Amino acid sequence: MSIVSDLEAILREVEKPGRYTGGEWNSVVKDWESTPVKVALAYPDTYEIGMSNLGLMILYDILNRQPDILCERVYAPWLDMEERLRRAGLPLYSLETRHALTDFDIVGVSLPYELNYTNALTILSLGGMSPLAAERRPEDPLVIAGGSGAYNPEPMAAFFDLFVIGEGEEALLELVRLYAEWKRGAAFGRPPKADFLRQAARLGGIYVPSLYAAEYHADGRLARTVPIAPDVPARVVKRVVPALPPPPTRLIVPYIETVHDRAMLEIQRGCTQGCRFCQASTIYRPVRERTVDEIVRAADEMLLATGHEEISLVSLSSSDHSQIEDVVRALAERCGPLGVSISLPSLRADAFSVRLAEMVQTTRKTGLTFAPEAGSQRLRDAINKKVSEEDLLRTAEAAFGTGWDRIKLYFMVGQPTETDEDVEAIADLVKKVVAVGRRHRGGRAEVSVSVATFVPKPHTPFQWEALVDDETLRRRLDILRRGLRVKGVRFSWHDPGTTLLEAALSRGDRRVGEVIHRAWQLGARFDAWGDAYRPEAWEQAWRDAGLSPEFYGRRPRSRDEALPWDHIDIGVRKEFLWRERERCRAATPTPDCREGCVGCGVNAALPLAGGTALCP
Ligand code: SF4
Repeated sequence: MSIVSDLEAILREVEKPGRYTGGEWNSVVKDWESTPVKVALAYPDTYEIGMSNLGLMILYDILNRQPDILCERVYAPWLDMEERLRRAGLPLYSLETRHALTDFDIVGVSLPYELNYTNALTILSLGGMSPLAAERRPEDPLVIAGGSGAYNPEPMAAFFDLFVIGEGEEALLELVRLYAEWKRGAAFGRPPKADFLRQAARLGGIYVPSLYAAEYHADGRLARTVPIAPDVPARVVKRVVPALPPPPTRLIVPYIETVHDRAMLEIQRGCTQGCRFCQASTIYRPVRERTVDEIVRAADEMLLATGHEEISLVSLSSSDHSQIEDVVRALAERCGPLGVSISLPSLRADAFSVRLAEMVQTTRKTGLTFAPEAGSQRLRDAINKKVSEEDLLRTAEAAFGTGWDRIKLYFMVGQPTETDEDVEAIADLVKKVVAVGRRHRGGRAEVSVSVATFVPKPHTPFQWEALVDDETLRRRLDILRRGLRVKGVRFSWHDPGTTLLEAALSRGDRRVGEVIHRAWQLGARFDAWGDAYRPEAWEQAWRDAGLSPEFYGRRPRSRDEALPWDHIDIGVRKEFLWRERERCRAATPTPDCREGCVGCGVNAALPLAGGTALCP
């Protein structure tokens, strides 16, 4: 059912109608009737945020390269649009051909962040189906999820038929192909979806929650999560591509401003710095780099296909790429004459990075961003953030000394073993950086300080930790407010209001799904957006479910406690994570494994043969 008619009227009434129109340059519109398999990929946040998600673009490109598959995009409608569609009785639709979600064979939802979870339920419900997998009709699409949230799928288990664990480049295509085969079987009477799910569970990297049972101790702790049939794998090993395939280059060019309004080129995947708070550092291992030639070729194609005036070299730690200087030099030679600027996010805090930034800087030197994350050397060693005070001050010298006016510094409070003195050390360190700035740039020097609250995440050395308590958090933010009342310093901190919710959803078990569903029924939407967040809906939902966010967010776990994500295998050994936790307590850093393998286990657990992984 195409729903063009009443839509124009609604689009005239809502905020940013460009979010809902589609038709952008490089969007792929295939013939609906003649294309056998139809996939909708959905992102649980607004268009302008979802359009900047590289993962979705990669899968969109791979699926649409297949002649027998069409792939269309869906983003979470903002509150006004949801209200209008519901009032008009119109379903949420895809941007390419405006088909309702129930017209698709497969609906895939990316789960990038816990505070987007309620939006995933809105997408399914407004798309014409029950958000609860158990309540969906046989004719409803297969509903799948992926992305970093899938590494602890349990809180969202009730809403999805299956999860793709790990990288989707190969796994998603295999799954869609298996589905196409199953669908072809429909001619002879479609076997029940349960049969398909059983087959899918054997594909590798596919987690089908309905094929596992969660058991609990009397005190409410999880006892174990076990398969309900012998042919179902006890642990689901994440999928990884041994070598990065060519990146998408015909990127969609949006009509409205998006968060990352530039061409995005992934130069490597994974990071081996091993910061102990960082989930990306473990779930995206091993490191695989693109070569200089691959990067330059892709950049040429991308700029030609999009007309973008800026290209961003994305990765978790760009300055770690083994050929980064050659990459930057080659691109600067090509982009400079075209008036295209190059941005290098996520630089290590060292003079080398400033030199790199120099190489790409063509216009006025605005700002450089670094993430020391902790103020004292003891705490940086404890969290394994390999930046010394000398590194940071040398970086400031290099930056302010070569004409930069502003440095942005990221810190976190609430990390394991942190003391008030460690937080005071943040203010002391910032004052030293400002002093360097003053010496070189006088009153023009500025240091922006952004502070977030540390949230323990699954599959990290800190997965057993408790979230910091409110009183300690308030006291430490007060220390910073007082300590950073300094000329030339801009201080901002993330409102900790949603931190406990994020912590509880990130390490929740299957029962938390009931809370998410109830909060959504009570109106929770866009929980990451301060003005949309509805704490009262969540408080009611926890009460109604007889559960507490404190149990999930603020309770330390013992080493032998079963964790809701224990049956999801990322290749990194649990013993390695515990060992890193212990090294944190001893404030002992672990070297970057580019300098030599430190035994996380990925090279033994994952099929990396013939690829470009940096593991021995
Ligand atoms: S296996 Fe060794 S080299 Fe590979 S990511 Fe793990 S620690 Fe690093």
